[in-house]
Amino acid sequence: MKKKLIAGNWKMNGSFAANEALVNGLLTNLGTPACEMALCVPSIYLAQMQALLVGSEIDLGAQDVSQHEGGAFTGEISGAMLKEFGVRYVLVGHSERRQYHFETDALVAAKAQRALACGVTPIVCVGETLTEREAGMTEEVVKRQLAAVIHANGHCISEIVVAYEPVWAIGTGKTASAEQAQQVHAVLRAQLKAASAQADRIHILYGGSMNAANAAQLLAQADIDGGLVGGASLKAPDFLSIIASAL
Ligand code: PEP
Repeated sequence: MKKKLIAGNWKMNGSFAANEALVNGLLTNLGTPACEMALCVPSIYLAQMQALLVGSEIDLGAQDVSQHEGGAFTGEISGAMLKEFGVRYVLVGHSERRQYHFETDALVAAKAQRALACGVTPIVCVGETLTEREAGMTEEVVKRQLAAVIHANGHCISEIVVAYEPVWAIGTGKTASAEQAQQVHAVLRAQLKAASAQADRIHILYGGSMNAANAAQLLAQADIDGGLVGGASLKAPDFLSIIASAL
């Protein structure tokens, strides 16, 4: 059975001093966790984080990657650059990028493709808004978002990680109930199974106000293979408690 994966998304938070204190707090108290772990940090701190995490069990992650291989794309960071900094995972299609940077399903799929080509595992985020949920469109939305990535990545699809993040639950303190989350995860699992014989090895993470109090129940669901954790990953005791729940 695959180990669960707990990934922190620091979003646009951090400083040299705060990063060092947080990583020290994590590594000092980590013990021997049963799960795999990663921290997706702002790109400007990748070098610092690579040094802080070297030799530890926590993998390094980034929060975005260019769909382009290289060249005249000011401000962008390529998959090859991420790889050079020891990055194992990169978030693609986070709802904040879909919303504030107008990232389309096709762009997210192209970013996932570029990450895979560079040996970096994309964590593909999908999820419905509150309006879409209330209109009964949850399944349709997440399937459409994932279908674009499946279509672009073909047989490589078993190499991705998927994160189901209902937009209405991100940073709001509103968590999907374990049943609501499991229901969507089962839909995503079936879609992945239809696309790949190796779909069982794909981690499907839940994200959206996961915290120390609700993690165990969410992580106990059959198709929830881990968590993508925003706010609670910025406090060492909270993130450690989620890690300890991932059995
Ligand atoms: C996220 O940003 O991916 C996330 C899940 O945030 P939060 O845990 O703060 O809701």
